[in-house]
Amino acid sequence: MNRYPALINGEEVNAGADFEDLDPSTGEILAEVTRGGPQEIDDAVAAARQTLEGTWRRTRPAERARILRRMSDLMRRDRDRLADLESRDTGKPLRQARADADVAIRYFEFYASAVEVLYGETIPVSSDVFIYTLREPFGVTGHIIPWNYPLQIGARTVAPALAAGNCCVLKPAEEAPLTAVHLGRIALEAGLPPGALNVVPGYGEEAGAALAAHPGIDHLSFTGSVEVGALVSKAAADHVIPVTLELGGKSPNLVFADADLEAALPVVVNSIIQNAGQTCSAGSRLLVQAPVHDRLVEELTGRFQKISLGPGPADPDMGPLISATQLERVTRYVDLGKGEAHAVTGGRPPDDARLKGGFFFLPTVFDHVPPSAVIAREEIFGPVVAVTTFSDLDEAAQLANSTDFGLVAAVWTRNVSTAHVMAREIQAGQVFVNTYGASGGPEMPFGGVKRSGHGREKGFAGLLEYTQVKTVAMKIEPGVA
Ligand code: NAD
Repeated sequence: MNRYPALINGEEVNAGADFEDLDPSTGEILAEVTRGGPQEIDDAVAAARQTLEGTWRRTRPAERARILRRMSDLMRRDRDRLADLESRDTGKPLRQARADADVAIRYFEFYASAVEVLYGETIPVSSDVFIYTLREPFGVTGHIIPWNYPLQIGARTVAPALAAGNCCVLKPAEEAPLTAVHLGRIALEAGLPPGALNVVPGYGEEAGAALAAHPGIDHLSFTGSVEVGALVSKAAADHVIPVTLELGGKSPNLVFADADLEAALPVVVNSIIQNAGQTCSAGSRLLVQAPVHDRLVEELTGRFQKISLGPGPADPDMGPLISATQLERVTRYVDLGKGEAHAVTGGRPPDDARLKGGFFFLPTVFDHVPPSAVIAREEIFGPVVAVTTFSDLDEAAQLANSTDFGLVAAVWTRNVSTAHVMAREIQAGQVFVNTYGASGGPEMPFGGVKRSGHGREKGFAGLLEYTQVKTVAMKIEPGVA
């Protein structure tokens, strides 16, 4: 049985107790992982502080960039191993895990480059005062990540933090902690000073809560559910520290009657079956203009029924859900949905020896879903799409904005005005036109409005998120021309 430790101050640490990390494709134990708690978090924060003050804060950006680039090189060397581990741990199809590994590698490359052009400003107020700003790291940053894209999200949050000169404590989710530990090992091999990136696996209410409440943390980044995000936010408020919140979504694909349906369909399908719908930005609502409703639902249903299910490493179209708890949650929502709307296809798969023990669920379509329905408003976090029709632009915008969330949205149309009007009217952190996700490039700022969170990860905005501005004003002696 594989055992995974915490990484604290460059050392592999065992906390004295382990928890079982299950393989979602089989329900069997994949690894024993050390169960970090308040003590390990304390040690990790102390190590991060020491490295911050000892070296990292003052390391030249070019040197930080060099180490981050080396990290990306080593991740590329280990790409297949990382992808395999991620696929086993999360259940996602191998090709998706490979794509995730590639994006994770890109985060380190991107932020290595970005930090080399991170400058302050000079501010021309008067001729006898010279004013400039410095972009400084916060100090010790805490990062709590979910189980759905641990490699990608871990990289997305620690790469900019490290690039900006912070030292990090990363707490992966208990359901899928393995690639985070591997990332910590790669960091050490790449020459990142011990203590700059500490990884402490453990339960949310133990290690996670201890990290969120730790007085030695200067900035928190949380990616996960709205409920836990609110708890983390309260803990941050107690110490008056900033918090970046990347939370859930109920993102719509809006398909107008003039859209290229052949182009839209595969993308609409993928937006909800990717990662078995366990994606914060999943296209879980399909808003369709009435004239194309019947054709779209028929085609969508046909495509859903052809989706193959299987264990992640076998590279099916769709893997299992992450856990028995998640399977129960999705089943509960689907049962509820049957009383709210028309269930077209999906549900629990029939008995199949290949799926035995795994947490599988079929891609599911609900049609004629009233906007007030629970399945139209709440995040299910499974492969379930709710279809609702609209008649005109006003109704489309009103439906798009009718949930508490605002993460992403996509507009499918051939009409440029429709595209721009909708992009302006939709409340979301990202709006796509005739595409969805756009390959998730690290260059594109990402984050939510409303209950989807605040702050931005990714892109240059993601680097700024881990810096604070210091303003320096200097009186210039008179008499100097
Ligand atoms: P979750 O909130 O249950 O867990 C997220 C992390 O928080 C885990 O590491 C967990 O151990 C930790 N945690 C749990 N309780 C805690 C506590 N009391 N204090 C501190 N930490 C605690 O979320 P999840 O089920 O892992 O992930 C699913 C959710 O994440 C969905 O809502 C999804 O939309 C969201 N998500 C958002 C993004 C984004 O970028 N916006 C990306 C991925 C997932």
